[in-house]
Amino acid sequence: MSIHATHLNVRPVRAFADNYIWLIESPRTPTQVVAVDPGEADPVLAELKRQDRSLAAILLTHHHPDHIGGVPELLQHWKVPVIGPDDSRIALKTHTLRDGERCEMPDLGLEFETLHVPGHTVSHIALFGHGALFCGDTLFSAGCGRMFEGTPEQMSASLNRLAELPPETQVFCGHEYTAANLRFALTVEPNNIAAQEYQESVQRIRGAGDPSLPSTLSMEIRVNPFLRCDKPNVRAVAEARAGKSLAEPSEVFAVLRAWKDTFR
Ligand SMILES: [Zn+2]
Repeated sequence: MSIHATHLNVRPVRAFADNYIWLIESPRTPTQVVAVDPGEADPVLAELKRQDRSLAAILLTHHHPDHIGGVPELLQHWKVPVIGPDDSRIALKTHTLRDGERCEMPDLGLEFETLHVPGHTVSHIALFGHGALFCGDTLFSAGCGRMFEGTPEQMSASLNRLAELPPETQVFCGHEYTAANLRFALTVEPNNIAAQEYQESVQRIRGAGDPSLPSTLSMEIRVNPFLRCDKPNVRAVAEARAGKSLAEPSEVFAVLRAWKDTFR
């Protein structure tokens, strides 16, 4: 089975103010779903009931409460595997995924590749398979996660690894931050036509109350300033902001990330 072969049926479940919990339907047994980063249980339980589906597994990208908080209650309803990164802060995990390891769920017809992507947290992982990337709080559409536990070099390297996946990859992020991220992206690159067009389309989609996600990697490579730190115009803006020359893309990244932390 090729992990590039098919596209998945993935449904968003909204949680808290702007989180998405992604429900992946089993291509083999469509009544079974896998929940990615269930920060709370109630909206997942409601959606499963509405769709008459049952939970088959839980995948976790990192230990933050808004990504794992619903696990104990979900386990009261379904005794399922809890699969996540090597991190003792995830108490109920049953299976650990390390960089390069495969997450194989043959009964469900699902298989993902694990990428260790430190930066937002030290142990954060992303899962890639079936043309889909579940990247938690590492890559957002038109933005990236804050660096709570990593260095700019780590975060920048993690984002670059994700950017090397096939361009048609669908990107399922942990939060609906796209509109706010695009305001920052267009401050960095006011003349980026792809970002201007994307902003218009996102405003339409969000105005209708729909999720802006999934995005695609090809879109992110065109609009996301954090994936464009090697571009001369992005470097020039970062250098002006820093008041010094920046030799490495990771230094450009560090300036952009610090700028975004205080951007309103
Ligand atoms: Zn997080």
